[in-house]
Amino acid sequence: MSLKNSVKKCISLIAAAVMLCTLLASCAPKPQDVFKQEADSWFEGFSDAQTAAKPTVSYQYSKNGSIAVSKPSISVVEADRSISDYYEKLKNEFINKAVSDEDKLLISYKSFKASEDITGIEVSSKQTLSGTQSQYIKTFNYDSQGLVELDDTLRRITMIHARDLVLEDQRYGSSVDKVKLKDSTDYQLLYTDSGIDVIYSSNALTSQTDEHITVHVPYSKIRFALPESIKAGVVSDDSVRTVDITKKLVALTFDDGPSSIYTDQILDVLETYDSVATFFDLGCIMENAPQAMQRASQLGCEMGSHSYSHKNLKKASVEKIKEEISSTDAVFEKILGYKPTLLRPPYGEVGSDLKENCDKYLIGWSVDTLDWKYRDKDKVIESVKSEGNLDGDVILMHSIYKSTAQAVEELVPWLIENGYQLVTVSELMKYRYETEMEPGKYYANQFFESHK
Ligand code: ZN
Repeated sequence: MSLKNSVKKCISLIAAAVMLCTLLASCAPKPQDVFKQEADSWFEGFSDAQTAAKPTVSYQYSKNGSIAVSKPSISVVEADRSISDYYEKLKNEFINKAVSDEDKLLISYKSFKASEDITGIEVSSKQTLSGTQSQYIKTFNYDSQGLVELDDTLRRITMIHARDLVLEDQRYGSSVDKVKLKDSTDYQLLYTDSGIDVIYSSNALTSQTDEHITVHVPYSKIRFALPESIKAGVVSDDSVRTVDITKKLVALTFDDGPSSIYTDQILDVLETYDSVATFFDLGCIMENAPQAMQRASQLGCEMGSHSYSHKNLKKASVEKIKEEISSTDAVFEKILGYKPTLLRPPYGEVGSDLKENCDKYLIGWSVDTLDWKYRDKDKVIESVKSEGNLDGDVILMHSIYKSTAQAVEELVPWLIENGYQLVTVSELMKYRYETEMEPGKYYANQFFESHK
């Protein structure tokens, strides 16, 4: 091609481009196209890769309010009807209120395959009415028969974990009202591919956000309570102990240690049966058996304080109370790297000075084996077995007697055979009593009796 020809071609291209630009500028984009574009870009944020729930997309532009929807078509009749009804309800409510072309309603959904059989659908809608925007979410879970509800156990364990996750969330955890969180029924549940989403309505828990608060409870944490089809696909992680709330829960507690001999014997039994207990150790002897404390902690046992020198903290001065607690904290932290959150007051003696000057949860017991008095393995065993139903009980023992360590060898397998799961005190309070403990409050016989 000659230079002259190239220049000619170039000029004609420029001319064409100029013409095209003039043409485009002369016809401003139609409002219905703008609306469609806006809807399409919002739809892009939704994925439907997981299911065969094919979307039907429609746009309805009007000067009195426009609607765009992306809706799943599901072969399960009941689910399809419920979702369709919900879409219709949103549309009708919108149409009744919409007046201008600024008013818009967009509806779309995400779908999740929880198992071969179970699908979760999350429908989101975004509407603008008289300049005010609002968003809503509604969830649907279904299997081949129709819509499915979570059973009571699954719902309860999911919500226990959800509450923790909300409080741990740095965005709003600290602003969440704990009472509201405990009592809230203003949430929806969604089966996803890896866990259950708990979606709290906006303002249900805190005024800090006007968006929904969503937390994700992984299936691995709630495996025991899942429907069979989901459970089959969840790899159980043996390194993480999970609390199974379908079992009876009991907390063994051991005071007055650590003992370089008997604490280890008790831990041998607990390790063999993949179980845990709670140890309330004395500050003044912790450095005699630091390895026993470290081993217990590593096995998942809960480590608490039993004061420094076994003083009666009901009779002690405020100054003495503070000193007993802080000096125990110091040696405890030196050995384990953290401070205890639990305190078992010596002799179970609690007065107002202790309650007011203690940053820990005060823990008593509901079953006293009197092992310190009998020093007899069989009597210790009998005192537990004769209690009847131990679900929710905190059993008091001491980790400094041979007879107690021997009793534990028989008691732990007996408890497991009888359907109990051994948990720590904090786990018992969380899973069995669903109680958010308060520092300085004494959880003893009266509490356990009235909540059992
Ligand atoms: Zn004691």
